[in-house]
Amino acid sequence: MAKKRLVIIGGGIAGMSVAHAVFDKAKDLVDITVVTKDPFYMTGPSRPLLLTNEQSYDRMIRGYEEAAAKGINFVFGTVARIDPAERVVEVVENPTRNPVTRKVTYDYLVVAPGVVFDGSSIEGYKENWYRNATVYEPGRVDVLKQRIWAATKGTVIVYAPKQPYRCAPAPAETAMAIYTVLKHRGVRENFRIIHVDANDKPQPPVIADVIKERYEKAGIELITSREIVEVGPDYVVLNDGEKLEYTILAMLEPNRAPRFIEEAGLGEKWFEVRSPQDLRSPRYDDVLAAGDAAKLPFPKNQEIAYESALFAANKLLEDLGAGAEPYSVQYTFVGWAYLGNLEGKLETESVQFGLNFTTKPPKPSKDPVPKRDYTLQKDRWEQSYLNRLYHPK
Ligand SMILES: Cc1cc2nc3c(=O)[nH]c(=O)nc-3n(C[C@H](O)[C@H](O)[C@H](O)COP(=O)(O)OP(=O)(O)OC[C@H]3O[C@@H](n4cnc5c(N)ncnc54)[C@H](O)[C@@H]3O)c2cc1C
Repeated sequence: MAKKRLVIIGGGIAGMSVAHAVFDKAKDLVDITVVTKDPFYMTGPSRPLLLTNEQSYDRMIRGYEEAAAKGINFVFGTVARIDPAERVVEVVENPTRNPVTRKVTYDYLVVAPGVVFDGSSIEGYKENWYRNATVYEPGRVDVLKQRIWAATKGTVIVYAPKQPYRCAPAPAETAMAIYTVLKHRGVRENFRIIHVDANDKPQPPVIADVIKERYEKAGIELITSREIVEVGPDYVVLNDGEKLEYTILAMLEPNRAPRFIEEAGLGEKWFEVRSPQDLRSPRYDDVLAAGDAAKLPFPKNQEIAYESALFAANKLLEDLGAGAEPYSVQYTFVGWAYLGNLEGKLETESVQFGLNFTTKPPKPSKDPVPKRDYTLQKDRWEQSYLNRLYHPK
């Protein structure tokens, strides 16, 4: 019998988790092709530690060669369009130099391209985008780093948009990393650091009290329940009209899934799924989502992305008639948020927290005391993902 063609959009945490999970239990039944933008992957969670020089790019980037050697196929290019009725994915290869559009056909499609950062609703964003830099993207994190290591006085504004956005604590992690660097450089007293949050408390709510306590000790000002609606050359305007001047801006733009999802009728901002356990599109049995692009009632983070990928893999294995035991999976996680170092040592301390979504209401847990050990634990956790999905280093 001819093998089925499984195409996966996105070679990140969710996409690669689906690829390995299906390959490992059904490689004789299915040909797997991952379509992804770049011939490498850069991990997300430790990006804030680039600011404090505690992390380096070489430990964060992996190639796909080992997964290809195992038998998973790759196409490197940007997906521009999906036609679910015709079962075709349009990929633009080499988009910046010599663009070539290629059509990839499938029997099953998994859509796992993560999020995009969309500042289009913010006035002045188009003209001033380059004045902003965040920890969220390679390149931009370098810009932010250069700015916080060079500036001598002024105001730093860190911004978190309304949930859902990728990695709830990352804005607070950013504020505390910036504090740590300024303190380390002996210039902290020359700066105001302001965290503006569109949510009613810093995220995630389970550690809001720990973040607030840390901010009080660090002298970081917190403004909640207000959105940035305009960005100027050296100021932002909030939705109540207040104008705040900045020297350094670290504004996370509102998040959404890439537009090809909406254009294919698979959801508005996010990919609509039947349920968190059944990640098929309500309109197409053969199109599934996984990871941050999926509309799930949970935070957008790596563990949830991985768990959604296993649910998607189980559905595919069932449909393929693989006869294999399904992967054992539930929505629950333990994570760590970096909360800087109050003394300005470049040794970040972290708080540990967890959420279990198998109970109603979901059960939060935490150790409220930030510890250095948790930063090291988070590093081991992140490296184990990279080793498992890409290759050991
Ligand atoms: C700064 C930062 C800090 C974070 N901290 C944590 C943390 O502490 N704990 C935690 O659990 N999670 C954290 N996360 C979140 C975690 O990294 C994501 O939740 C996880 O990577 C989501 O997996 P994904 O597969 O959905 O997306 P990704 O891992 O981003 O993978 C998406 C892939 O799709 C590719 N792609 C995108 N668009 C296209 C396209 N049009 N065509 C082809 N390919 C495309 C991308 O290049 C990428 O390779 C953090 C993320 C960031 C950025």
